[in-house]
Amino acid sequence: MSEVIGRFAPTPSGRMHLGNALSCLIAWLSARSQGGRIILRVEDLDTARSNWDYARDIEAELRWLGLDWDRGGTDADGHSWCQSRRSEIYTEYFDRLQQMGLIYPCFCSRAELHAASAPHRSDGRFIYQGTCRSLSAEEITAKTRLRLPAWRVRVPDREISFTDLHYGPYTENLSQECGDFIVRRADGVYAYQLAAALDDGLMGVTEVIRGNDLLSSSPRQIWLHELFEFAPPRYGHIPLLTASDGRRLSKRDGDLDIETLSRRYRPEEVVGMLGYICGLTEELRPMTAKALIPLFSWEKIPLDDLRLPEGFPEKLGF
Ligand code: GLU
Repeated sequence: MSEVIGRFAPTPSGRMHLGNALSCLIAWLSARSQGGRIILRVEDLDTARSNWDYARDIEAELRWLGLDWDRGGTDADGHSWCQSRRSEIYTEYFDRLQQMGLIYPCFCSRAELHAASAPHRSDGRFIYQGTCRSLSAEEITAKTRLRLPAWRVRVPDREISFTDLHYGPYTENLSQECGDFIVRRADGVYAYQLAAALDDGLMGVTEVIRGNDLLSSSPRQIWLHELFEFAPPRYGHIPLLTASDGRRLSKRDGDLDIETLSRRYRPEEVVGMLGYICGLTEELRPMTAKALIPLFSWEKIPLDDLRLPEGFPEKLGF
């Protein structure tokens, strides 16, 4: 079997949250347990929200957790692992989409999109109705005078299927369940879906492990991989973290960022707790990330939300 290349893909728009740490831990364990390598890509596409200070903090926090990487990061290879430095690459592929006749400008405002958003999916995402799909050249010229467009890609009316490493078979008909999606925003920033698919393809990533809030992004990304003739990676999604009472964690749970936790706990305590709630260990005890490698298996990880131990983060029952 060819070499496994996993990745960390943090967005440096704030401190690292425990949920991000969990995704990185599982991505790392999956790759390392197969003798694979890890790359660190900085997803700072949106430079208004992201910055390198946060990226450097995240790197320090990953190291604190005992999660290392083989390539990438803010200081490697002329910053070429940072999405903010890769826009020429995205432009090249955006142009290719244009040559394939697959993209078109969309002038819909947020309010218009909501008003025209007939069927909502169960996950709250709405399906673009194709309002701007067939504008004439004159209409485009006239509308461009009033507002800069976002750019959408025309999706096919066909099912994209893959087998998730954790959740098993997953299928989505892009046209019926997603609709044409944005690849470049009106402010010129390339969209996550395009950048992530391109980077995974160009960086030779073979395994994408992330939270299951991104499960439904995978068909779009797999389709982009196919369009650009990359071999799509395998995808594995992990359940989300919740409070001990099952409540969804939010940004307001600021005491669950790694920096705050590191003032109270040792890294083995945080990693051991994550390993335990993922079912990798049978009892709650301090563990290094390295010591979890031989214990890693997808079958042990629950499919449903993972609950933090009661009393955490104030206390942890070691
Ligand atoms: N940048 C995303 C995040 O920080 C992860 C995207 C991905 O793994 O594809 O949540």
